[in-house]
Amino acid sequence: MACKLIDKERNVLISMNPATFEILGEVPMCTPEGVSGAVASASEALAGWSALTVRQRAAHLLKARDYMLDRVDEIATLISSENGKPVTEAVNAEILVASELITRYAARAPELLKDRPLEIGNPLLGVLKESRLVYRPLGVVTVVSPWNYPFSIPMSGLVFALLAGNTVVFKPASDVALIGMKINEILNVGGNLPKGVLNTVIASGRTIGETLFTPPVRRIVFTGSTEVGRKIQGIAARNFIPTSMELGGKDPMIVLEDADLDLASSGAVWGAFTNCGQVCASVERVYVARPVYEKFLELVKEKTMKLRIGLGTDLNTDIGCMANEEQYNQVLEHLGEAVEMGARIECGGRRPDNGMPGYFIEPTILTNVTHDMKVVRDETFGPMMPVIPFDTVDEAVFHANNSVYGLCASVWSGDRRRGEEVARRIEAGTVCVNDAVYSFALVETPWQGMKESGTGCSHSDEGFMEFVFGQHINEDRSPGFMHRRMWWFPYSADSYSLLKSSISAFANLAKFPALGVSVVTKRAYRKMFL
Ligand code: NAD
Repeated sequence: MACKLIDKERNVLISMNPATFEILGEVPMCTPEGVSGAVASASEALAGWSALTVRQRAAHLLKARDYMLDRVDEIATLISSENGKPVTEAVNAEILVASELITRYAARAPELLKDRPLEIGNPLLGVLKESRLVYRPLGVVTVVSPWNYPFSIPMSGLVFALLAGNTVVFKPASDVALIGMKINEILNVGGNLPKGVLNTVIASGRTIGETLFTPPVRRIVFTGSTEVGRKIQGIAARNFIPTSMELGGKDPMIVLEDADLDLASSGAVWGAFTNCGQVCASVERVYVARPVYEKFLELVKEKTMKLRIGLGTDLNTDIGCMANEEQYNQVLEHLGEAVEMGARIECGGRRPDNGMPGYFIEPTILTNVTHDMKVVRDETFGPMMPVIPFDTVDEAVFHANNSVYGLCASVWSGDRRRGEEVARRIEAGTVCVNDAVYSFALVETPWQGMKESGTGCSHSDEGFMEFVFGQHINEDRSPGFMHRRMWWFPYSADSYSLLKSSISAFANLAKFPALGVSVVTKRAYRKMFL
Protein backbone atom coordinates (compact mmCIF):
# COMPACT_ATOMS: atom_id res chain seq x y z
CA MET A 1 0.00 0.00 0.00
CA ALA A 2 1.31 3.46 -0.90
CA CYS A 3 1.44 6.19 1.72
CA LYS A 4 -0.27 8.67 -0.57
CA LEU A 5 -3.31 8.33 -2.80
CA ILE A 6 -4.42 10.46 -5.71
CA ASP A 7 -8.16 11.03 -6.02
CA LYS A 8 -8.31 11.63 -9.76
CA GLU A 9 -11.93 12.74 -9.77
CA ARG A 10 -11.32 15.59 -7.33
CA ASN A 11 -7.65 15.98 -8.37
CA VAL A 12 -6.42 15.89 -4.80
CA LEU A 13 -3.53 14.12 -3.14
CA ILE A 14 -4.41 12.22 0.03
CA SER A 15 -1.46 11.99 2.39
CA MET A 16 -1.05 9.06 4.80
CA ASN A 17 1.20 8.21 7.72
CA PRO A 18 3.78 5.65 6.43
CA ALA A 19 3.81 3.87 9.82
CA THR A 20 0.06 3.51 10.41
CA PHE A 21 -1.51 4.35 7.01
CA GLU A 22 -3.79 6.77 8.85
CA ILE A 23 -5.01 9.60 6.57
CA LEU A 24 -3.31 12.88 7.51
CA GLY A 25 -4.95 15.30 5.11
CA GLU A 26 -5.32 16.24 1.49
CA VAL A 27 -3.90 18.81 -0.88
CA PRO A 28 -5.17 19.98 -4.29
CA MET A 29 -2.97 18.80 -7.15
CA CYS A 30 -1.77 21.30 -9.72
CA THR A 31 -2.74 21.02 -13.39
CA PRO A 32 -0.24 21.76 -16.20
CA GLU A 33 -1.90 25.19 -16.52
CA GLY A 34 -1.45 25.69 -12.77
CA VAL A 35 2.28 24.99 -13.12
CA SER A 36 2.62 27.54 -15.95
CA GLY A 37 0.54 29.97 -13.87
CA ALA A 38 2.97 29.59 -10.96
CA VAL A 39 5.90 30.51 -13.20
CA ALA A 40 3.97 33.49 -14.61
CA SER A 41 3.10 34.66 -11.12
CA ALA A 42 6.77 34.40 -10.03
CA SER A 43 7.80 36.41 -13.11
CA GLU A 44 5.29 39.15 -12.31
CA ALA A 45 6.40 39.44 -8.71
CA LEU A 46 10.10 39.68 -9.58
CA ALA A 47 10.40 43.43 -10.17
CA GLY A 48 8.85 44.34 -6.81
CA TRP A 49 10.72 41.76 -4.74
CA SER A 50 14.14 42.38 -6.29
CA ALA A 51 13.68 46.15 -5.81
CA LEU A 52 13.55 45.71 -2.02
CA THR A 53 16.83 46.10 -0.17
CA VAL A 54 18.42 42.90 1.06
CA ARG A 55 17.69 44.02 4.64
CA GLN A 56 13.99 44.36 3.79
CA ARG A 57 13.93 40.87 2.30
CA ALA A 58 15.83 39.53 5.33
CA ALA A 59 13.16 41.07 7.59
CA HIS A 60 10.47 38.97 5.83
CA LEU A 61 12.53 35.81 6.36
CA LEU A 62 13.21 36.59 10.01
CA LYS A 63 9.46 37.00 10.53
CA ALA A 64 8.95 33.60 8.90
CA ARG A 65 11.59 32.11 11.21
CA ASP A 66 9.82 33.49 14.28
CA TYR A 67 6.49 32.13 13.03
CA MET A 68 8.20 28.72 12.62
CA LEU A 69 9.80 28.87 16.08
CA ASP A 70 6.40 29.56 17.65
CA ARG A 71 5.18 26.25 16.17
CA VAL A 72 8.11 23.84 16.65
CA ASP A 73 6.06 21.01 18.22
CA GLU A 74 3.33 21.24 15.57
CA ILE A 75 5.86 21.23 12.70
CA ALA A 76 7.99 18.43 14.19
CA THR A 77 4.89 16.28 14.69
CA LEU A 78 3.79 16.86 11.10
CA ILE A 79 7.26 15.98 9.75
CA SER A 80 7.36 12.84 11.85
CA SER A 81 3.81 11.79 10.94
CA GLU A 82 4.10 12.28 7.18
CA ASN A 83 7.72 11.14 6.84
CA GLY A 84 8.14 8.52 9.59
CA LYS A 85 11.26 9.94 11.27
CA PRO A 86 11.63 10.41 15.05
CA VAL A 87 10.53 13.86 16.25
CA THR A 88 13.99 14.46 17.70
CA GLU A 89 15.41 14.22 14.17
CA ALA A 90 12.62 16.49 12.89
CA VAL A 91 13.83 19.08 15.38
CA ASN A 92 17.60 18.78 15.00
CA ALA A 93 18.02 17.95 11.31
CA GLU A 94 15.07 19.92 9.92
CA ILE A 95 13.76 22.86 11.97
CA LEU A 96 17.09 23.74 13.61
CA VAL A 97 18.88 23.78 10.23
CA ALA A 98 16.19 25.99 8.66
CA SER A 99 16.35 28.39 11.60
CA GLU A 100 20.16 28.53 11.53
CA LEU A 101 20.13 29.23 7.82
CA ILE A 102 17.74 32.17 8.12
CA THR A 103 19.45 33.59 11.22
CA ARG A 104 22.99 33.41 9.85
CA TYR A 105 22.29 34.50 6.28
CA ALA A 106 19.83 37.29 7.12
CA ALA A 107 22.87 38.78 8.87
CA ARG A 108 25.49 37.80 6.26
CA ALA A 109 23.64 38.57 3.04
CA PRO A 110 23.94 42.40 3.13
CA GLU A 111 27.74 42.06 3.33
CA LEU A 112 27.89 39.37 0.64
CA LEU A 113 25.77 41.37 -1.79
CA LYS A 114 27.74 44.62 -1.49
CA ASP A 115 29.31 45.88 -4.73
CA ARG A 116 32.87 44.52 -4.99
CA PRO A 117 35.60 46.76 -6.50
CA LEU A 118 37.92 44.84 -8.82
CA GLU A 119 41.66 45.41 -8.85
CA ILE A 120 43.07 46.15 -12.29
CA GLY A 121 46.79 45.44 -12.26
CA ASN A 122 47.64 46.95 -15.62
CA PRO A 123 49.34 50.27 -14.73
CA LEU A 124 47.68 52.33 -17.44
CA LEU A 125 44.19 50.85 -17.38
CA GLY A 126 44.27 50.61 -13.62
CA VAL A 127 44.35 54.39 -13.54
CA LEU A 128 42.00 55.11 -16.43
CA LYS A 129 39.35 52.49 -15.69
CA GLU A 130 37.18 51.52 -12.72
CA SER A 131 35.64 48.05 -12.48
CA ARG A 132 33.33 46.52 -9.94
CA LEU A 133 31.01 43.57 -9.58
CA VAL A 134 27.41 44.36 -8.74
CA TYR A 135 25.23 41.47 -7.71
CA ARG A 136 21.79 41.11 -9.22
CA PRO A 137 19.22 38.36 -8.70
CA LEU A 138 18.90 35.75 -11.42
CA GLY A 139 15.10 35.92 -11.80
CA VAL A 140 12.68 33.04 -11.32
CA VAL A 141 14.26 30.07 -9.52
CA THR A 142 12.81 26.55 -9.38
CA VAL A 143 13.32 24.52 -6.20
CA VAL A 144 12.53 20.79 -6.53
CA SER A 145 13.09 18.74 -3.40
CA PRO A 146 13.01 15.12 -2.17
CA TRP A 147 11.07 13.46 0.64
CA ASN A 148 13.91 12.37 2.95
CA TYR A 149 14.57 15.75 4.61
CA PRO A 150 11.32 17.36 3.53
CA PHE A 151 11.81 20.57 5.52
CA SER A 152 15.49 21.53 5.77
CA ILE A 153 16.43 20.66 2.19
CA PRO A 154 13.80 22.79 0.43
CA MET A 155 14.27 25.57 3.00
CA SER A 156 17.95 25.75 2.03
CA GLY A 157 17.18 26.59 -1.59
CA LEU A 158 14.17 28.78 -0.77
CA VAL A 159 15.89 30.94 1.87
CA PHE A 160 18.94 31.65 -0.30
CA ALA A 161 16.90 32.25 -3.45
CA LEU A 162 14.52 34.68 -1.71
CA LEU A 163 17.19 36.55 0.28
CA ALA A 164 19.15 37.11 -2.92
CA GLY A 165 16.10 38.76 -4.53
CA ASN A 166 14.77 35.97 -6.74
CA THR A 167 11.18 34.77 -6.89
CA VAL A 168 10.49 31.05 -6.67
CA VAL A 169 8.41 28.13 -7.83
CA PHE A 170 8.71 25.37 -5.25
CA LYS A 171 7.85 21.73 -5.95
CA PRO A 172 8.06 19.46 -2.91
CA ALA A 173 8.02 15.67 -3.27
CA SER A 174 4.44 14.36 -3.41
CA ASP A 175 5.11 11.97 -0.48
CA VAL A 176 5.51 15.00 1.78
CA ALA A 177 2.95 17.35 0.26
CA LEU A 178 1.57 18.47 3.63
CA ILE A 179 5.05 19.41 4.83
CA GLY A 180 5.57 21.29 1.55
CA MET A 181 2.37 23.23 2.18
CA LYS A 182 3.51 23.96 5.75
CA ILE A 183 6.70 25.51 4.37
CA ASN A 184 4.53 27.53 2.01
CA GLU A 185 2.49 28.75 5.00
CA ILE A 186 5.58 29.59 7.07
CA LEU A 187 7.12 31.73 4.33
CA ASN A 188 4.00 33.22 2.74
CA VAL A 189 1.85 33.75 5.83
CA GLY A 190 4.48 33.88 8.57
CA GLY A 191 6.95 35.88 6.46
CA ASN A 192 4.20 37.99 4.89
CA LEU A 193 5.75 37.63 1.44
CA PRO A 194 4.25 39.77 -1.31
CA LYS A 195 1.92 37.85 -3.64
CA GLY A 196 3.67 35.71 -6.24
CA VAL A 197 7.13 35.76 -4.62
CA LEU A 198 6.84 32.11 -3.53
CA ASN A 199 4.57 29.75 -5.47
CA THR A 200 4.19 26.16 -4.31
CA VAL A 201 2.98 23.48 -6.69
CA ILE A 202 2.01 19.94 -5.76
CA ALA A 203 2.34 18.05 -9.00
CA SER A 204 3.74 14.91 -10.58
CA GLY A 205 6.77 14.90 -12.88
CA ARG A 206 4.43 14.26 -15.81
CA THR A 207 2.27 17.31 -15.01
CA ILE A 208 5.33 19.52 -14.74
CA GLY A 209 6.84 18.36 -18.02
CA GLU A 210 9.60 20.85 -18.88
CA THR A 211 7.79 23.95 -17.57
CA LEU A 212 9.89 24.37 -14.43
CA PHE A 213 13.14 23.81 -16.29
CA THR A 214 12.86 26.22 -19.24
CA PRO A 215 12.84 30.06 -19.50
CA PRO A 216 11.68 32.32 -17.94
CA VAL A 217 13.16 30.12 -15.16
CA ARG A 218 16.77 31.27 -14.65
CA ARG A 219 18.09 28.73 -12.14
CA ILE A 220 17.16 25.20 -11.06
CA VAL A 221 17.87 23.88 -7.59
CA PHE A 222 17.27 20.16 -7.70
CA THR A 223 17.83 17.72 -4.85
CA GLY A 224 17.01 14.09 -5.51
CA SER A 225 18.20 10.99 -7.28
CA THR A 226 21.02 10.98 -9.81
CA GLU A 227 18.62 9.41 -12.33
CA VAL A 228 16.05 12.25 -12.23
CA GLY A 229 18.82 14.84 -11.84
CA ARG A 230 20.39 13.65 -15.10
CA LYS A 231 17.07 14.10 -16.91
CA ILE A 232 16.53 17.63 -15.58
CA GLN A 233 20.17 18.59 -16.20
CA GLY A 234 19.65 17.60 -19.85
CA ILE A 235 16.67 19.96 -20.22
CA ALA A 236 18.53 22.73 -18.39
CA ALA A 237 21.63 22.31 -20.58
CA ARG A 238 19.55 22.68 -23.76
CA ASN A 239 18.27 25.98 -22.39
CA PHE A 240 21.57 27.20 -20.84
CA ILE A 241 19.99 27.35 -17.40
CA PRO A 242 22.46 26.96 -14.51
CA THR A 243 21.63 24.27 -11.98
CA SER A 244 22.54 23.09 -8.56
CA MET A 245 22.25 19.29 -8.52
CA GLU A 246 22.40 17.66 -5.08
CA LEU A 247 22.18 13.97 -5.93
CA GLY A 248 22.78 10.49 -4.56
CA GLY A 249 25.63 9.08 -2.50
CA LYS A 250 27.24 5.84 -1.33
CA ASP A 251 29.27 7.24 1.50
CA PRO A 252 32.21 5.26 2.86
CA MET A 253 33.38 5.25 6.47
CA ILE A 254 37.01 4.25 7.09
CA VAL A 255 37.97 3.08 10.59
CA LEU A 256 41.77 3.07 11.06
CA GLU A 257 43.33 0.69 13.58
CA ASP A 258 44.11 3.56 16.00
CA ALA A 259 40.47 4.77 16.14
CA ASP A 260 38.56 5.09 19.40
CA LEU A 261 36.35 2.05 18.74
CA ASP A 262 33.65 3.02 21.19
CA LEU A 263 33.27 6.40 19.45
CA ALA A 264 33.57 4.97 15.94
CA SER A 265 31.02 2.21 16.55
CA SER A 266 28.46 4.68 18.00
CA GLY A 267 29.15 7.00 15.05
CA ALA A 268 28.63 4.15 12.58
CA VAL A 269 25.34 3.10 14.16
CA TRP A 270 23.99 6.65 14.16
CA GLY A 271 25.45 7.45 10.71
CA ALA A 272 23.99 4.35 9.06
CA PHE A 273 20.59 4.29 10.77
CA THR A 274 19.56 7.89 11.46
CA ASN A 275 16.44 8.73 9.44
CA CYS A 276 16.20 4.97 8.85
CA GLY A 277 19.23 5.24 6.55
CA GLN A 278 17.35 7.49 4.12
CA VAL A 279 20.10 10.08 4.00
CA CYS A 280 22.10 11.07 0.94
CA ALA A 281 25.12 11.24 3.26
CA SER A 282 24.30 8.05 5.16
CA VAL A 283 27.13 5.73 6.16
CA GLU A 284 26.44 3.16 3.42
CA ARG A 285 29.61 1.04 3.70
CA VAL A 286 32.11 0.67 6.52
CA TYR A 287 35.75 -0.30 5.93
CA VAL A 288 37.52 -1.39 9.13
CA ALA A 289 41.24 -2.10 9.67
CA ARG A 290 41.57 -5.86 10.07
CA PRO A 291 43.27 -5.81 13.53
CA VAL A 292 40.19 -4.07 15.04
CA TYR A 293 37.52 -5.53 12.76
CA GLU A 294 36.15 -8.19 15.17
CA LYS A 295 35.99 -5.79 18.11
CA PHE A 296 34.31 -3.08 15.98
CA LEU A 297 31.76 -5.60 14.69
CA GLU A 298 30.92 -6.77 18.20
CA LEU A 299 30.36 -3.16 19.31
CA VAL A 300 28.16 -2.11 16.37
CA LYS A 301 26.04 -5.26 16.76
CA GLU A 302 25.58 -4.70 20.47
CA LYS A 303 24.59 -1.03 19.94
CA THR A 304 22.30 -1.74 16.98
CA MET A 305 20.35 -4.38 18.86
CA LYS A 306 19.56 -1.82 21.57
CA LEU A 307 17.88 0.62 19.12
CA ARG A 308 14.17 1.15 19.74
CA ILE A 309 12.01 0.94 16.62
CA GLY A 310 8.61 2.58 16.63
CA LEU A 311 6.37 5.49 15.83
CA GLY A 312 8.39 8.62 15.09
CA THR A 313 6.10 10.71 17.26
CA ASP A 314 7.04 8.64 20.35
CA LEU A 315 9.85 10.59 22.06
CA ASN A 316 11.66 7.35 22.96
CA THR A 317 11.84 6.03 19.40
CA ASP A 318 15.32 5.83 17.86
CA ILE A 319 14.32 4.39 14.48
CA GLY A 320 11.05 5.18 12.73
CA CYS A 321 9.67 3.58 9.61
CA MET A 322 10.77 4.11 6.03
CA ALA A 323 9.00 6.91 4.21
CA ASN A 324 7.43 5.09 1.30
CA GLU A 325 6.80 1.75 -0.36
CA GLU A 326 9.23 2.16 -3.28
CA GLN A 327 12.14 2.81 -0.94
CA TYR A 328 11.14 -0.03 1.38
CA ASN A 329 11.02 -2.43 -1.58
CA GLN A 330 14.42 -1.24 -2.81
CA VAL A 331 15.99 -2.00 0.58
CA LEU A 332 14.45 -5.49 0.62
CA GLU A 333 15.75 -6.05 -2.91
CA HIS A 334 19.33 -5.05 -1.98
CA LEU A 335 19.18 -7.20 1.14
CA GLY A 336 17.73 -10.20 -0.71
CA GLU A 337 20.38 -10.03 -3.44
CA ALA A 338 23.21 -9.71 -0.90
CA VAL A 339 22.04 -12.74 1.08
CA GLU A 340 21.62 -14.75 -2.12
CA MET A 341 25.20 -13.87 -3.08
CA GLY A 342 26.57 -15.02 0.29
CA ALA A 343 26.28 -12.05 2.68
CA ARG A 344 25.77 -12.85 6.36
CA ILE A 345 23.13 -10.98 8.39
CA GLU A 346 24.81 -10.18 11.73
CA CYS A 347 21.68 -8.60 13.17
CA GLY A 348 18.35 -7.20 11.98
CA GLY A 349 17.10 -7.90 8.46
CA ARG A 350 13.50 -8.59 9.47
CA ARG A 351 10.26 -6.72 9.77
CA PRO A 352 9.76 -5.93 13.48
CA ASP A 353 6.66 -7.36 15.07
CA ASN A 354 5.21 -4.06 16.34
CA GLY A 355 1.60 -4.41 15.23
CA MET A 356 1.84 -1.52 12.76
CA PRO A 357 1.18 -2.01 9.04
CA GLY A 358 3.79 0.51 7.81
CA TYR A 359 7.23 0.29 6.22
CA PHE A 360 9.29 -0.93 9.17
CA ILE A 361 12.53 -2.83 8.85
CA GLU A 362 15.08 -3.63 11.55
CA PRO A 363 18.45 -1.89 11.24
CA THR A 364 20.70 -4.48 9.65
CA ILE A 365 24.42 -5.26 9.75
CA LEU A 366 25.89 -7.33 6.94
CA THR A 367 29.29 -9.02 6.66
CA ASN A 368 30.87 -11.28 4.06
CA VAL A 369 29.84 -8.73 1.45
CA THR A 370 31.59 -8.05 -1.86
CA HIS A 371 31.86 -5.03 -4.11
CA ASP A 372 29.67 -6.53 -6.83
CA MET A 373 26.64 -6.58 -4.50
CA LYS A 374 24.10 -3.75 -4.87
CA VAL A 375 24.22 -3.16 -1.12
CA VAL A 376 27.91 -2.16 -1.43
CA ARG A 377 27.89 -0.64 -4.92
CA ASP A 378 24.52 1.16 -5.39
CA GLU A 379 22.75 3.66 -3.16
CA THR A 380 20.59 1.57 -0.80
CA PHE A 381 19.02 4.49 1.08
CA GLY A 382 17.85 2.35 3.98
CA PRO A 383 18.98 0.94 7.34
CA MET A 384 21.73 -1.38 6.01
CA MET A 385 25.36 -1.36 7.22
CA PRO A 386 27.77 -3.55 5.25
CA VAL A 387 31.05 -3.94 7.18
CA ILE A 388 34.23 -4.88 5.30
CA PRO A 389 37.77 -5.46 6.67
CA PHE A 390 40.85 -3.93 4.99
CA ASP A 391 44.57 -4.62 5.27
CA THR A 392 46.18 -1.39 4.08
CA VAL A 393 45.08 2.24 4.04
CA ASP A 394 45.68 2.31 0.26
CA GLU A 395 43.19 -0.52 -0.12
CA ALA A 396 40.57 1.33 1.99
CA VAL A 397 41.08 4.55 0.01
CA PHE A 398 40.84 2.64 -3.28
CA HIS A 399 37.49 1.10 -2.30
CA ALA A 400 36.17 4.39 -0.90
CA ASN A 401 36.90 6.12 -4.22
CA ASN A 402 35.80 3.24 -6.44
CA SER A 403 32.26 4.59 -6.83
CA VAL A 404 30.35 6.78 -9.27
CA TYR A 405 29.33 8.84 -6.24
CA GLY A 406 31.33 11.35 -4.19
CA LEU A 407 29.05 13.11 -1.72
CA CYS A 408 30.46 12.62 1.81
CA ALA A 409 32.80 10.28 3.67
CA SER A 410 34.29 9.86 7.12
CA VAL A 411 37.64 8.78 8.50
CA TRP A 412 38.08 7.65 12.10
CA SER A 413 41.45 7.78 13.81
CA GLY A 414 42.96 8.54 17.22
CA ASP A 415 45.47 10.74 15.43
CA ARG A 416 43.68 13.74 13.91
CA ARG A 417 46.58 14.55 11.58
CA ARG A 418 46.59 11.03 10.20
CA GLY A 419 42.80 11.19 9.87
CA GLU A 420 43.10 14.35 7.82
CA GLU A 421 45.83 12.86 5.62
CA VAL A 422 43.48 10.04 4.65
CA ALA A 423 40.51 12.43 4.36
CA ARG A 424 42.37 14.49 1.74
CA ARG A 425 42.70 11.39 -0.44
CA ILE A 426 38.96 10.69 -0.57
CA GLU A 427 36.90 11.88 -3.56
CA ALA A 428 33.96 13.46 -1.74
CA GLY A 429 32.45 16.91 -1.26
CA THR A 430 32.80 16.68 2.54
CA VAL A 431 34.97 14.33 4.57
CA CYS A 432 34.51 14.35 8.35
CA VAL A 433 37.21 13.16 10.71
CA ASN A 434 35.72 11.38 13.74
CA ASP A 435 32.10 12.24 12.89
CA ALA A 436 29.74 11.55 10.01
CA VAL A 437 26.61 12.74 8.17
CA TYR A 438 25.83 15.75 10.35
CA SER A 439 27.63 18.55 8.47
CA PHE A 440 24.49 19.70 6.56
CA ALA A 441 23.69 21.42 9.86
CA LEU A 442 26.77 23.66 9.53
CA VAL A 443 25.10 26.21 7.30
CA GLU A 444 28.25 28.27 6.67
CA THR A 445 30.03 25.25 5.14
CA PRO A 446 29.53 23.99 1.58
CA TRP A 447 27.31 21.00 0.89
CA GLN A 448 28.26 19.61 -2.50
CA GLY A 449 29.02 16.43 -4.37
CA MET A 450 31.82 15.23 -6.62
CA LYS A 451 31.27 12.94 -9.62
CA GLU A 452 27.64 11.76 -10.01
CA SER A 453 26.69 13.16 -6.61
CA GLY A 454 26.08 16.46 -8.33
CA THR A 455 27.20 19.92 -9.27
CA GLY A 456 26.89 23.27 -7.55
CA CYS A 457 26.76 23.94 -3.87
CA SER A 458 24.17 24.34 -1.11
CA HIS A 459 24.74 26.35 2.06
CA SER A 460 27.89 28.48 2.62
CA ASP A 461 28.79 31.83 1.09
CA GLU A 462 29.74 30.07 -2.16
CA GLY A 463 26.31 28.45 -2.29
CA PHE A 464 24.57 31.76 -1.57
CA MET A 465 26.43 33.49 -4.39
CA GLU A 466 25.06 30.90 -6.84
CA PHE A 467 21.73 32.75 -6.56
CA VAL A 468 23.04 36.02 -7.98
CA PHE A 469 24.79 37.13 -11.12
CA GLY A 470 27.94 39.17 -10.61
CA GLN A 471 27.58 41.82 -13.28
CA HIS A 472 30.74 43.63 -14.26
CA ILE A 473 30.35 47.41 -14.42
CA ASN A 474 33.29 49.15 -16.06
CA GLU A 475 33.62 52.93 -16.09
CA ASP A 476 36.04 55.04 -18.01
CA ARG A 477 37.86 57.72 -15.98
CA SER A 478 40.02 59.22 -18.75
CA PRO A 479 40.43 62.99 -18.71
CA GLY A 480 38.18 64.92 -21.09
CA PHE A 481 40.99 65.76 -23.54
CA MET A 482 41.58 62.05 -24.34
CA HIS A 483 39.18 61.69 -27.24
CA ARG A 484 40.22 58.22 -28.19
CA ARG A 485 41.74 55.11 -26.62
CA MET A 486 45.12 53.87 -27.78
CA TRP A 487 43.66 50.59 -29.09
CA TRP A 488 40.88 52.23 -31.17
CA PHE A 489 40.90 53.04 -34.92
CA PRO A 490 42.72 54.25 -36.90
CA TYR A 491 45.58 51.72 -36.68
CA SER A 492 49.05 52.77 -37.83
CA ALA A 493 52.72 51.84 -37.57
CA ASP A 494 52.94 54.18 -34.54
CA SER A 495 50.03 52.61 -32.71
CA TYR A 496 51.43 49.16 -33.53
CA SER A 497 54.83 49.90 -31.98
CA LEU A 498 53.32 51.76 -29.01
CA LEU A 499 51.11 48.79 -28.17
CA LYS A 500 53.98 46.37 -28.80
CA SER A 501 56.36 48.17 -26.47
CA SER A 502 53.68 48.43 -23.80
CA ILE A 503 53.59 44.61 -23.53
CA SER A 504 57.07 44.38 -22.03
CA ALA A 505 56.72 47.71 -20.21
CA PHE A 506 53.63 46.44 -18.35
CA ALA A 507 55.25 43.05 -17.68
CA ASN A 508 58.37 44.72 -16.23
CA LEU A 509 56.39 47.19 -14.14
CA ALA A 510 54.60 44.28 -12.51
CA LYS A 511 57.94 43.44 -10.85
CA PHE A 512 57.76 46.78 -8.99
CA PRO A 513 54.24 46.95 -7.62
CA ALA A 514 54.93 50.31 -5.96
CA LEU A 515 55.40 51.85 -9.42
CA GLY A 516 52.22 50.30 -10.70
CA VAL A 517 48.66 51.25 -9.87
CA SER A 518 49.19 52.36 -6.33
CA VAL A 519 46.51 54.23 -4.46
CA VAL A 520 48.85 57.22 -4.53
CA THR A 521 49.16 57.15 -8.34
CA LYS A 522 45.42 56.92 -8.68
CA ARG A 523 44.83 59.74 -6.24
CA ALA A 524 47.39 62.00 -7.90
CA TYR A 525 45.93 61.29 -11.31
CA ARG A 526 42.40 62.05 -10.18
CA LYS A 527 43.51 65.29 -8.56
CA MET A 528 45.00 66.42 -11.81
CA PHE A 529 42.32 65.37 -14.27
CA LEU A 530 38.99 64.55 -12.69
P1 NAD B 1 13.68 11.71 -6.82
O1 NAD B 1 14.77 12.02 -7.77
O2 NAD B 1 12.80 10.57 -7.15
O3 NAD B 1 12.71 12.97 -6.64
C1 NAD B 1 13.20 14.23 -6.23
C2 NAD B 1 12.17 15.29 -6.61
O4 NAD B 1 12.04 15.32 -8.04
C3 NAD B 1 10.76 15.00 -6.08
O5 NAD B 1 10.14 16.23 -5.77
C4 NAD B 1 10.07 14.36 -7.27
O6 NAD B 1 8.68 14.50 -7.25
C5 NAD B 1 10.69 15.18 -8.40
N1 NAD B 1 10.65 14.52 -9.71
C6 NAD B 1 10.78 13.21 -9.99
N2 NAD B 1 10.71 13.02 -11.33
C7 NAD B 1 10.53 14.24 -11.88
C8 NAD B 1 10.39 14.71 -13.21
N3 NAD B 1 10.44 13.87 -14.25
N4 NAD B 1 10.21 16.03 -13.42
C9 NAD B 1 10.18 16.89 -12.37
N5 NAD B 1 10.31 16.51 -11.09
C10 NAD B 1 10.48 15.19 -10.85
O7 NAD B 1 14.38 11.53 -5.40
P2 NAD B 1 13.70 11.12 -4.03
O8 NAD B 1 13.34 9.67 -4.13
O9 NAD B 1 12.65 12.10 -3.66
O10 NAD B 1 14.92 11.33 -3.01
C11 NAD B 1 15.91 10.38 -2.79
C12 NAD B 1 17.18 10.72 -3.55
O11 NAD B 1 17.59 12.05 -3.28
C13 NAD B 1 18.36 9.85 -3.14
O12 NAD B 1 19.06 9.48 -4.30
C14 NAD B 1 19.20 10.79 -2.29
O13 NAD B 1 20.57 10.46 -2.22
C15 NAD B 1 18.98 12.08 -2.96
N6 NAD B 1 19.26 13.18 -2.06
C16 NAD B 1 20.38 13.92 -2.25
C17 NAD B 1 20.70 14.94 -1.36
C18 NAD B 1 21.95 15.76 -1.51
O14 NAD B 1 22.05 16.78 -0.85
N7 NAD B 1 22.91 15.38 -2.32
C19 NAD B 1 19.86 15.20 -0.29
C20 NAD B 1 18.72 14.42 -0.13
C21 NAD B 1 18.42 13.42 -1.02
